[in-house]
Amino acid sequence: MGDQTVAAGSAPADGAQAAQAGTAHTEHPTGAAHETHPTRSYGLLLGGEWREARDGKRAAIRSPFDGSIVGEVALATAQDADDAIEAAAQGAAQWRRTPAHERAAILLRAAALADARTDELATTISLENGKPFAEAKGEAGRSGALIRLAAHEGTQLYGDSLPLDANPGTGQDKVGFTLRQPVGIVVAITPFNYPALLVLHKVGPALAAGNAVILKPASATPLTALALASIFVEAGVPEGVISVLTGPGGPIGDALVRDPRVRKISFTGSTGVGERIASLASVKKLSLELGASSPTVILPGVDIEKAAAAVAAGGYVNAGQVCISVQRVIVHREVEADFLDALRPKVEAIRMGDPLAEGTTLGPLVAEREAERVAQSIARAVDDGATLLTGGERDGAFVSPAIVTGVDTRQAFAQEELFGPAVAVTTVDSFDAAIGAANGTPYGLAAGVFGGTLGEGVRAMREIDAGSVHLGWTPLWRADLMPYGGLKASGYGKEGVRSTVEEMTEVKTVIIHG
Ligand code: NAD
Repeated sequence: MGDQTVAAGSAPADGAQAAQAGTAHTEHPTGAAHETHPTRSYGLLLGGEWREARDGKRAAIRSPFDGSIVGEVALATAQDADDAIEAAAQGAAQWRRTPAHERAAILLRAAALADARTDELATTISLENGKPFAEAKGEAGRSGALIRLAAHEGTQLYGDSLPLDANPGTGQDKVGFTLRQPVGIVVAITPFNYPALLVLHKVGPALAAGNAVILKPASATPLTALALASIFVEAGVPEGVISVLTGPGGPIGDALVRDPRVRKISFTGSTGVGERIASLASVKKLSLELGASSPTVILPGVDIEKAAAAVAAGGYVNAGQVCISVQRVIVHREVEADFLDALRPKVEAIRMGDPLAEGTTLGPLVAEREAERVAQSIARAVDDGATLLTGGERDGAFVSPAIVTGVDTRQAFAQEELFGPAVAVTTVDSFDAAIGAANGTPYGLAAGVFGGTLGEGVRAMREIDAGSVHLGWTPLWRADLMPYGGLKASGYGKEGVRSTVEEMTEVKTVIIHG
């Protein structure tokens, strides 16, 4: 993701607190440019220390808006991954013996630090990811609450008592119960689109449950992850219990995923990388939060204004780079014209610009090549017979918000994950056809339904193959405590703090033979 390898020593990486002010910045094609922000230079966090990668390589992190350097990180090698696992093995041994109330107290300190640093975290997210500051602040602002939820769940590792004497042949001379314990070493691999939220959804529960965690953040957005890791260290998480390896996924990823000392891999990212991880992981616990092409169904009886406003947000938040983005709108022919009349002006009112400028509601995509890919997908949809109602023009890393109508569900534009600021509109003539279209892709992460009868709503919640179904809203909605995760090619396993703690612990059955 725009990483540029630079020689060791070209900029100092004297730990998490190393901050260098005054970077050069380049002009954006529109003439706008970021004011200069201090950059952060980090090493790897390993065994409680910040240090260089084994081969000393580093990379600059650039703003997708104007290409300016916003930070610098070390590029971990497979040998660094091995070091991290060694440190984590020691950290995990200590952390699992730390009482849950002490772990929770440390996490609560981290939550308070995250709250106090919301603006700083939001600026880092916006600079490295390109999302508008208001969205970045919304994301950063969830950090403290999410860590607190995790802290609580880490104190709730209850087990069951087993009524063994209900088993024929067993008397009352035995007592059985289950004991929930940490898994040991968790590897957390995260994508670029929510650099704080998706890191915390793994790291918070992993630590709360008593595991050591090795975090591999996306190569485009490591600075937010490193800032969050610094917070956990500052709050008192012992050495080796949290490590961060930055750099491209391939070599580090393979080393982490294959290692038998790792017990749990929690991956959020593309389906392709998820498939590779699943093929290499061997006997490990695995959670895969993967790609999607999420549908929103619009049926007669819909509140047109409400649905149009929700789609105009849900299709374009974070420039459509959200796994639960509204990629497909499946609209009943009876309400199609009214719905599009309401949707179009709302989409055209979305304001593209500098992510840090007030009033911007659409920033660039994470990289120019991503914008090229999205613009090409839109052009191909039109070649395949669809109509571009508005938007779809590329300028550098920006793509103007688009509505593409007349999309057949079988087209690539509906079948493949777009991850860009456009919605594909498919028109149907019946409720059954709407459900068929909603289920008509390999994915199944989340879905939304507006309108319809109560009976249709009940059928939709049962028949749409998606990990979450929203009646009266789009798929783009998430509470951090709710179980969250996809079906079909969207993966398996559930996140959401309680579910994650469950997946990051093991159940042991204990029998006392009297
Ligand atoms: P990506 O798959 O390119 O990268 C995700 C992470 O995997 C990064 O940290 C990357 O460095 C790492 N990685 C790359 N190759 C690897 C390998 N061989 N072994 C181990 N790790 C490797 O995804 P991205 O472009 O950062 O994010 C976008 C994708 O994430 C989209 O497909 C989106 O739908 C998905 N996503 C899913 C959810 C969900 O909850 N289902 C949430 C957010 C994003």
